[in-house]
Amino acid sequence: MEQYRVTPGAAANLTARDPRDSAAFDGGKSAGRKAAKAANAELEHLQELLYAEGKHKILVVLQAMDTGGKDGTIRHVFDGTNPQGVKVASFKKPTPEELAHDYIWRVHKHTPRSGEITIFNRSHYEDVLVVRVHDLVPPAVSEQRFEHINSFEQMLTDEGTTIVKLFLHISKEEQRVRLQARIDDPEKHWKFSFGDLGERKLWDQYLQAYEEAITRTNAVSAPWYVIPADRKWYRNLVITRILVDTLARLEMAYPEPEGNLEGVVVE
Ligand code: ATP
Ligand code: MG
Repeated sequence: MEQYRVTPGAAANLTARDPRDSAAFDGGKSAGRKAAKAANAELEHLQELLYAEGKHKILVVLQAMDTGGKDGTIRHVFDGTNPQGVKVASFKKPTPEELAHDYIWRVHKHTPRSGEITIFNRSHYEDVLVVRVHDLVPPAVSEQRFEHINSFEQMLTDEGTTIVKLFLHISKEEQRVRLQARIDDPEKHWKFSFGDLGERKLWDQYLQAYEEAITRTNAVSAPWYVIPADRKWYRNLVITRILVDTLARLEMAYPEPEGNLEGVVVE
C-alpha cells in the first residue's frame, strides 16, 4: 500500500493520480470485498491488542471533497471494532465558541488517549482548505498555519501518537454521480445540501488547496496517503490494509498477567 503514501519532500501531484486506480489488487469487486473483510478481521484483532496494551494512541485524519466517502469509510473499515476504543470526532462549520478560539483548540480536545483510535471526520486541515478557498482569513494568517499544523502534529507524535492522514481522492465525475443520487433517491435527501452545488463549482480551487496542504504537511512521522476512492470496495480495502500495516509496525503485546496463573483454578 506504500504506493499511495505521498513521498516526503515530493509534491502530492493529485492530478496525476487516478481516482479509479485499483492496481494493488488483482481481482474485481467481489474478490476485493472478501479481501477487505479479511483485512477487517486483522484490524479488529489489532484494535483489541491496542486497547489491551493501552500504550499507543492512533489518530486517523480523514479528508475528502463532498461525497468523497468519509462516512462509508468509517462504517466499513471500522466495522466490528470495539466502540469503547474507537472514537469519531466530526468537525463541521465552527460554532461561535470555536471561532472565538484558535483553530487547533477544538481538535486538540479530541485527540486520542492511550489505547484508543480516534478518527477525525474532517479536521484542522479545513482551516487551510475551505478557509483558504473562501478567503475566510487573510492569506498572511492562513499561510502560517502549515507550520502550526506541522508543529502540532510533531508534538502529538513526540507524545506517543501515531498519525495517519488519508485523502479520499474521487473524480469530479464520480462526485456528480453521487450528488445526483442524493437528489434522486428520497432516502438520500438528508445527505444533500444545496451548498454542495456551490462548492462543486470550486472543484479546481479545492484540488489546488489540497495539493498544497498535503505537500506542505507530509511529515515522515505524520504521512499523507492519497486513496483512490471512486471505487468504494477498493477504497475500503486500501485503507484497511494501511491501518493494519500501521498497527502491526507498533509490535504491540498483551500486558503481562498480574501474577503466575499456572495451576490457578476458579472454584
Ligand atoms: P457529508 O459528507 O455527509 O456531507 P460533511 O462532513 O460534509 O458530511 P456537512 O455538515 O455537510 O458535513 O459539512 C460540514 C461543512 O463544514 C463542510 O462544508 C466543511 O467545509 C465545513 N467546515 C469544517 N470545518 C470548517 C472550518 N474550520 N471553517 C469553515 N468551514 C468548515
Ligand atoms: Mg457535506
